[in-house]
Amino acid sequence: MCARCGTVAEGDTVPVTWLSAVEDGRRLHFCESCARLHIRAIESRLDSLWW
Ligand SMILES: [Zn+2]
Repeated sequence: MCARCGTVAEGDTVPVTWLSAVEDGRRLHFCESCARLHIRAIESRLDSLWW
């Protein structure tokens, strides 16, 4: 299930087009459209780790 919009993936496995991320020790999944929006937040967070 998408952690952002609540879209439920078909089948038992997460589609390859979905983004999975670990936040606060929990594995979250984001659907294709939400992943595009969320990837910026993830990347900016990763960038901050490099500083
Ligand atoms: Zn979504």
